[in-house]
Amino acid sequence: MSLTLANAALLRSQNFINQQWCSAGQGRRFAVTNPATGEVFAHVPDSDDDDAGRAADAAAEAFPAWSARPARERAQLIKRWHARILANQEDLARIISAEQGKPLTEARGEVLYGASYVEWFAEEATRICGDIVAEAVPGRKLLVLKEPVGVVAAITPWNFPLAMIARKIAPALAAGCTVVAKPAEDTPLTALALVWLAEQAGLPAGVLNIVTASRGSTPNVVDAWLADSRVRKITFTGSTPVGKHLARESAGTLKKLSLELGGNAPFIVFEDADLDAAVDGLMAAKFRNGGQTCVCPNRVYVHEAVHDDFVQRLARRVGLLHVGPATDENAQIGPMINARAVDKIERHVEDAVAKGARVVTGGRRVRTADGPHYYAPTVLIDASPSMALSCEETFGPVAPVFRFRDEAEVIRDANDTPFGLAAYFYSNDVRRIWRVAQALETGMVGINEGAIAAEVAPFGGVKESGYGREGSRHGLDDYLHTKYLCQGQLG
Ligand code: NAP
Repeated sequence: MSLTLANAALLRSQNFINQQWCSAGQGRRFAVTNPATGEVFAHVPDSDDDDAGRAADAAAEAFPAWSARPARERAQLIKRWHARILANQEDLARIISAEQGKPLTEARGEVLYGASYVEWFAEEATRICGDIVAEAVPGRKLLVLKEPVGVVAAITPWNFPLAMIARKIAPALAAGCTVVAKPAEDTPLTALALVWLAEQAGLPAGVLNIVTASRGSTPNVVDAWLADSRVRKITFTGSTPVGKHLARESAGTLKKLSLELGGNAPFIVFEDADLDAAVDGLMAAKFRNGGQTCVCPNRVYVHEAVHDDFVQRLARRVGLLHVGPATDENAQIGPMINARAVDKIERHVEDAVAKGARVVTGGRRVRTADGPHYYAPTVLIDASPSMALSCEETFGPVAPVFRFRDEAEVIRDANDTPFGLAAYFYSNDVRRIWRVAQALETGMVGINEGAIAAEVAPFGGVKESGYGREGSRHGLDDYLHTKYLCQGQLG
């Protein structure tokens, strides 16, 4: 596959440290591949702890001047970055599709979605406020300031190569922090292009640094930042086991942490729901990015009174989804990210069928001329809690339907997971809506809505889905600490 861009300069193949595009110190590189075909179409640096250390040096050196800049100046630079992202949106979408595999229409949507966080945090930069507290003792003034935490290390996954890193870098810069970033092995090119656009926007030297690393070298890079006392915050999106590792290892220097981790979202259709709206919501929430989304419904619970009707409507829609490569403008489901991902989906479906589930549509790999990493959009019925797909993220286009009888039972089952990222339910009973929304143990709840993420809203989970929030004013707070000033002798 050749990746042709209107702006060829976006295709970067080096690290960016202290305003220099540079190779890894050891000169090693790794290949970036098309997930559908496995074809290699670029190489980027395979960095190590020395490269990570040089990036942290640059970020630490840049921090005093960047954090001292007036907020409005920081905001203007971030807005210039935002304008450049929008000016290059078609190229950025092509890079996302090439390395991640999502259909171009979705990649275009991801660029706008990621850009919306950049714009939001540029605006929020000028609204960082502390407090003046009523004095408890005469002759004293008490003030609360908000200050940037310092150097931030951002580690991101492959499923949203632009949005995940944009919504970490933008609030960090807005708060006055400097950044060292490491994107996922599978999708380094989008992140490098974003950083190049930030450089073009005029970001000063050392404020934003990025190193790429292969899966084998990643622990070496991240361990260097974990051990570095100058790195004051880790912001991570990815799997729960890696999140727990970062929490353990950052304890040595007690860093601030934001962890956006895995989910196991329930999607509940009550007997009083508008079934067409519920099918629309499930299609949007489940099949976006081929089901490779942390907030994807992983378990679909349907009340027995509407079960058969709902499944029939759902299967009709799912059966019409068009599977194809990202370059096919009609594609709605692209390839999965790699062979391991397709193997996991296949294993989950086989396990479910062996334990009594029935395939209504899909349930098999799709072998295209383009490669073996496609899986057919699938609806299963008679799913049960003993199945692997009930307790692990499938991360693929599979909707397993569980039948339920009453509200108390479905709430208990929906909450019966260590994860707590997102939940969705459909109901037209206003009392039930408030009851269920409060009973669900998740950080986010979609009520008669399947697409809930927005830059103005706090995105994040509870339980083993992590802590910290991205987006909204809460997303900025995660990059600030609180300093209290007490001035006496004023009486
Ligand atoms: P992952 O394996 O945890 O990888 C995420 C990032 O961590 C990558 O940059 C990866 O680098 C790095 N990493 C891997 N092992 C590491 C280690 N030992 N030390 C330090 N860093 C390490 O997750 P993934 O498979 O890329 O992403 C899918 C997961 O992310 C799913 O569980 C999904 O639910 C979750 N996710 C959560 C959210 C959210 O907002 N809550 C959003 C999107 C995705 P390499 O690529 O080089 O291995």
